[in-house]
Order: sequence, then structure tokens, then C-alpha cells
Amino acid sequence: MSTQLAARPALPVHAARPALSVVVPAFDEEAVLPAFHARLVPVMEAIGLPFEVVYVNDGSRDGTLGVMLALRAQDPRVSLVNLSRNFGKEIALTAGLDHAAADQAVVVIDADLQDPPEVIPDLVAAWRQGYDVAYARRRAREGETWLKKATAAGFYRVMQRIGGKVDLPADTGDFRLMSRRALDALLALREQHRFMKGLFAWVGFPSIPVPYDRAPRAAGETKWNYWRLWNLSLEGITAFTVGPLKVATYLGLATAFGAAIYGIQLIIRTILWGNPVAGYPSLMAVVLFLGGVQLMTLGIIGEYLGRVFNETKRRPLYIVERHLPSEATDQRQAR
Ligand code: UDP
Ligand code: MG
Repeated sequence: MSTQLAARPALPVHAARPALSVVVPAFDEEAVLPAFHARLVPVMEAIGLPFEVVYVNDGSRDGTLGVMLALRAQDPRVSLVNLSRNFGKEIALTAGLDHAAADQAVVVIDADLQDPPEVIPDLVAAWRQGYDVAYARRRAREGETWLKKATAAGFYRVMQRIGGKVDLPADTGDFRLMSRRALDALLALREQHRFMKGLFAWVGFPSIPVPYDRAPRAAGETKWNYWRLWNLSLEGITAFTVGPLKVATYLGLATAFGAAIYGIQLIIRTILWGNPVAGYPSLMAVVLFLGGVQLMTLGIIGEYLGRVFNETKRRPLYIVERHLPSEATDQRQAR
């Protein structure tokens, strides 16, 4: 693959636009943000390209906004996007990418130091070789329970099966570098239901994995407990009204399951003790089973219809409370 790639020419350094933007979505990360920034900056400075850091405050309930404002006061390379409420990571990330000023490439990284900033030079090196997307691939999942590892592995396997043409790389999060043209392609996708890993994969372009070791969270807590993950996948009953449709899915599943057991029981009973009312057991089993399957498929149709409903509203993906762009991109200007 690498033979078709032309190495990128040396970049002209002009102060107006940074070459690199680092996009960091953060929700309740006041404990870790100062440490994150302190670890990120020397790594970025060592790369030697003008850069900015775009912090997105995703409606944090703690002092994250204050910490970001303080960072920006100290470091003019900090850009701040404050969302009007919590929109969830996928949308916060999109907001940050929308506000990234870089004309060369963007890096997406979590604020909690689970994605080590020290990997960024490797991503940049891959990009300099001519790849449009360099995605960090986890070698180890330290500090995560076997249940999380197992559910993640199962998830990737299922996605691999049903993903079809679009190849979803396993053990890959949002931590990656994208060239400006790959980013522009990604930003053209404005759907409300943003499954970022899927969108990244859909965009395509020459991509390469960069292996790294994922660290446990530095401070604070993960917001992805199972309840939240569950809720996230159900898309929130109160915010959107597709919720009641889901009831049909589960009702149908339960009925179909119950009918199957009931049917088996009826069949066994008939074989053993005969059939007092002719045709009754088979009729009952078939009626119940079909009813269940119909409800379930209606529920699935409802899921899709609900998504179509949400897309037709054409709402903006997020609301920005305030945007403070970075002021200096040249590292010599800072401090
Ligand atoms: N995050 C966000 N909005 C949310 C939840 C999370 O911006 O509603 C950010 C969070 O601050 C962190 C990143 O997304 O920078 C990943 O979140 P987390 O560490 O909770 O997820 P995990 O690493 O467990 O997948
Ligand atoms: Mg994390």
C-alpha cells in the first residue's frame, strides 16, 4: 500500500493558521485537564509544527469550564468551545472538529490521559509518510474489567459481521490523526446519530494503524458505565420520542420466546397424552409465535422510522454557548 503514497512535502510555516489542531472533548474532567495539558504541550512542541489545542466543554457539571478558561489565559494556543449542555462525546467531538483551525491535520484525543499524548508524534510520522488517517490501535486494555473487554470484543465481532463493505478496525477508539481532506470529508456527514468509529471508517482514504498501550484513566471516572452505554444505545426516551416503539421490540421478543416454550410443551404433551381438541395446540403455538415475530419486526421498523424522524427535524447537531479561538499558533509566541 505504501508504494502508492507520495511523501508529504515540507510544510510552509505561517502564523495565521496552525498546521495541527488537537481536539479534546471533555465532560467533567476538571481533575485531569491541567495534567493533560501539561503532558500534551511538550509533546506537541517537540513535533515542531504550529499547533492549537481545541478543548470542547461538553456541558460539564464541575469546574471544567473554569479550568479551560485558565488554561487559555496561560496559553494562547488554546481554543475553547463551550457547548450549551451535555451533547455526548460523539457530538462534542464533532463540535471540536468543526472549530479546528488547522490547515494540515487534526488529532483527536481523550482528555483523561487514556490516550497517551506521547503517541501523537508517531501519528504525525505516519501522516508525513503520506497517510491521510493514522489511527492508534490499543495493544493492551489495562485497568479495564474482563466484562468490558469481553463486551468490546463481542461488539467488534458483531460489527465486523454486519458492517459489510465498511471495515471497522478492532481495538481502535477515536484517538487518531486525520489530514485536512479526510476531516473535510468527515465533516460533510451531518447525521444526528453519530457513530464516530463508523463514520471514520466510511470516509476511507489511505489509513494505517499505529500500535500503543492504553493506560488506565489518570483521574476522575469513566462516564461510560453500563447503564450509560445502555441508555446511549437506546438514544434517550425523553429527548426523542422513538422510545415507545422499542416496547414493541421487547414485547415481541418475549412473546416469541414464550410461544416457543409453550409450543414445545404443547407438542410434548400431545405426543404423550394425545390431543383432546383437534388442532388446538398447533394453532395456539403458530398464532402466538407469529404475533411475537410481527411485534418484533414492527419494533425494528420503528427503530429505523424513529431515526428517520430525528433526521428530518434537521436540527443543528449542537449549540455553542461560546467559542474562544486560539490566538497564537506559533509555539515561540506562547508564554
Ligand atoms: N466525554 C464527553 N462527553 C460525554 C462523555 C465523555 O465529551 O458525554 C469525553 C470525556 O471527557 C473524555 C472522552 O469523552 O475526554 C472519553 O470519555 P470516557 O473516558 O468517559 O470514556 P472511555 O475512555 O471509558 O471510553
Ligand atoms: Mg476514558
